[in-house]
Amino acid sequence: MDAGMLTPVMRQYFAAKELYPDCLMFCRIGDFYELFYDDAILVARELQLTLTARDREKKQPMCGVPYHAAEVYIQRLLRKGYRIALCEQMEDPKTVKGIVKREVTRVLTPGTSMDPSLGAEQSNYLASVQLKGSCAGVALLDLSTGEFRATEFTGPGAWAAAVDELGRVRPVELLYGSGLLGGVNLAGEPETSAGLDAIRTKTAVDEWVFTAEYAVPLLRNHFKVFSLEGMGLGGHEAAAVAAGALLHYIQKTKQGAVEHVDGVRYYERSTCLELDAVSVRNLELVEPLFSGESAQTTLFYTLDACCTPMGKRLLRATLLRPSNGLPEIEARLEAVAEACSRLREREALRRSMDGVLDLERLLGRVALDSAGPREVMALAGTLGCLPGVVAAVRMFAAGRWQELGKMAHPTLRGEATKDGAPGGFGLIDGIKAPAGPSTALRSAQDDRFSENGFDALEDLCGLVVGTIAEEPPVTFSDGGVIRAGVDAELDELRELSRSGRQALVAIEERERTRTGIGSLKVRFNSVFGYYLEVTKANAKSVPADYERKQTLVNAERFTTPELKDYEAKILTAQERSGEIERRIFAELRATLLAGAMRMRATAKRVAEIDMLACFAHLAALRGWVKPTVEESGVLEFVQARHPVVERRLEESGGGRFVPNSLYLDAGSDGASPDDASGPAVMLITGPNMGGKSTYLRQAALLVVMAQCGCFVPAERMRLGLVDRIYTRIGASDNVARGRSTFMVEMTETAAILNTATSRSLVLLDEMGRGTATYDGLSLAWATVEHLHDRIGARTLFATHYHELTLLAERLTRLKNLRVTVKETSTGIVFLHTVEAGPASKSYGIEVAKLAGLPAVVIGRAREVLKLHEKAETQQVASALAASSGETARPLQMTMFTPLSQRIVDRLEAADVDEMTPREALNLLAELQRELKN
Ligand code: ATP
Repeated sequence: MDAGMLTPVMRQYFAAKELYPDCLMFCRIGDFYELFYDDAILVARELQLTLTARDREKKQPMCGVPYHAAEVYIQRLLRKGYRIALCEQMEDPKTVKGIVKREVTRVLTPGTSMDPSLGAEQSNYLASVQLKGSCAGVALLDLSTGEFRATEFTGPGAWAAAVDELGRVRPVELLYGSGLLGGVNLAGEPETSAGLDAIRTKTAVDEWVFTAEYAVPLLRNHFKVFSLEGMGLGGHEAAAVAAGALLHYIQKTKQGAVEHVDGVRYYERSTCLELDAVSVRNLELVEPLFSGESAQTTLFYTLDACCTPMGKRLLRATLLRPSNGLPEIEARLEAVAEACSRLREREALRRSMDGVLDLERLLGRVALDSAGPREVMALAGTLGCLPGVVAAVRMFAAGRWQELGKMAHPTLRGEATKDGAPGGFGLIDGIKAPAGPSTALRSAQDDRFSENGFDALEDLCGLVVGTIAEEPPVTFSDGGVIRAGVDAELDELRELSRSGRQALVAIEERERTRTGIGSLKVRFNSVFGYYLEVTKANAKSVPADYERKQTLVNAERFTTPELKDYEAKILTAQERSGEIERRIFAELRATLLAGAMRMRATAKRVAEIDMLACFAHLAALRGWVKPTVEESGVLEFVQARHPVVERRLEESGGGRFVPNSLYLDAGSDGASPDDASGPAVMLITGPNMGGKSTYLRQAALLVVMAQCGCFVPAERMRLGLVDRIYTRIGASDNVARGRSTFMVEMTETAAILNTATSRSLVLLDEMGRGTATYDGLSLAWATVEHLHDRIGARTLFATHYHELTLLAERLTRLKNLRVTVKETSTGIVFLHTVEAGPASKSYGIEVAKLAGLPAVVIGRAREVLKLHEKAETQQVASALAASSGETARPLQMTMFTPLSQRIVDRLEAADVDEMTPREALNLLAELQRELKN
């Protein structure tokens, strides 16, 4: 396009677009944000807006949204994954002659802009990933709260581990070096990058950003630290580079000073119970298995009785990263036990947190300069609740609750301070402990806090309450944001404009009397200022000293020298007081931001206290018990229930959940499989719909709950710490990535067999069902043997391959369990109890009948089944006899061909040497006939 032909605004637009070509350019023109050309066409289509044009020939498509309502439209576009640049007017149009200067002031992307529809419990992570050699770094930043952490993975599985971590955290936007995803990793190893598919917005950043030379100094400068050691990032270059790249992006997209992002901390997955993305999904920890389904099937929904948004967020994060450290788990369980037994104190504590709003996010808004006077007052309202929380915590036994809160303090949790002070051990999410702080440093930090290190932030609360008016307006335009008595000049100016307005009322009165025009009014508008308005009919009675200002259809507007004088006084006073109000507000904001780290620390303590009080509340309400957690290989629960299914049954009136028990013992570390008491592997058979999957999931959920510090729905539970939970449950295709159901199943099984340890909990549900019976059974058989003989992990294996139950005769640490069913004259009844021993049949046909299959199909299926069963009984007997010498005969030859076995037997018995050719032919013909029949 010929630049000379363009209007000045269009030239500004194109200049901005050139700098931010991948963004939709929202160009502020007066009270609207306007979009032009392709952006306009796209946005009009996406938001169903009317497409107009700037010129007569309609060659400049355009559409716009009102400035004051833009937020809604912007969020809708962000949710669709678009990026938006705000090109603002940099000068006041009233004071500028000619074209107003415009500049891009902020770029909004899904990861940098908080979606208001996001639940309080959800984090809005912007992530970055980098791969260098065999080292992968991952960093996560939630700009809405200031949470910033990084980790790294090394070795041959580094990339897969990084992808898995991202799949688990589910960031809304992922940054990567421009060569990375399009290059070797995605093209060469499609499987290993599949976990990134769910991340909707992926943003390529220049490769040079992902270098230590650039990223590390950037971090150091931002946090004003000499070295990254204090943040736990020393020696973790990949993590530091990923974190630096995030910071670069924040600066590039002009998110402001982001003072609430006051540290980045290194975390390690191995310090918590590891749950891979597949298990998080299968177990429905925080999201339902299928998107769009009700969230009521999740463990989070069942456990969430938190009072504060911070508590909810911590609960969600904790479910994704339960602890793996005995002291931490025990400390939490002790605190829960105390609160559980003390109803009055517990209720007082929960009530004290009632009015506590999202401190972290309010602080985030203050830092990002998007908090108005009302938000700051809301922040103060929350700060005002804190002394009550401190008092309520004080009611508990000295030390226990107070200590828990203290551990959540960032300087004691491995989170770096701005001055680089290192922290202690991590309670909340397995943060690796760098070297502990010196005692002197620790007490110096503690001295800053009022009560047991719990900083109730009373000074900040007092400051806000003392500065902002009790019920402030939404914006500054009408004044009245700052309290009276804060600033003498402001008070004086307010008095001046009030007396000025009174004087105007007096003028109106006087002029009505003087002119005899009863309807004369003194009015104001922003264009003409103050004026006297007289109806057309009365215009003839206007005195000579009135100056005409404006003529309307029905009225005339005038001014007088006296009115002008008052107008100037009032407007100047208002303008000046607006300036003062803004200045005081900015000062207040700066003071609040200086206390950002204290506020974040307190928010974390409140979150921890809230979550544990929630656990205690649930335990008391539902009769849950304290699990015994220990360093052993045991997993035992007695009369336990599945928390989610039980609650669902209760709510739907669908009956009572049938409790059941389990005892597994993988032995202590290092013990040979024979020394361990066992059983380590349970093989669960039983009817379809009998409750096998529920039993498996229940075991995993109880482990997760116990390691989070939560009580469990059981009569008793004993748990030797679990390092990882593996699940291979159900079937899911990933056709889009070229992986069939069976391939997905085998990939997941391979991951388990390659990485599980004797400390892991492995759940395999119906393995081997995705392929031919022989192959599936053989794979399942070999997998169980491997888990039993080589890995020794606590394993629950649910299957319909009844043949596998024979393994119990050979594998000493494997036992059979079955879910029971009662046969009645009208059909079967599921008892849902789990007892020792193998099941005799699957009742698949009965269940199919219940599901409504046509009677004729059911009848025919029964006939076919009878034939199979008869033949199979004979074959199983012979297989057992043969395998008493262990490997005497390959199993699949004897066990899986019941119908054709008779033919095989006759062939085997025939003495070919003694047969005439005719007899041989006759036998052949006979066998063929039998086969055809
Ligand atoms: P399939 O072999 O067909 O996969 P399954 O044996 O795995 O079946 P589940 O899916 O675990 O069976 O359970 C079937 C239904 O039974 C579930 O909807 C669950 O609500 C109910 N159920 C399972 N266990 C119990 C129990 N202990 N008490 C009450 N209801 C239960």
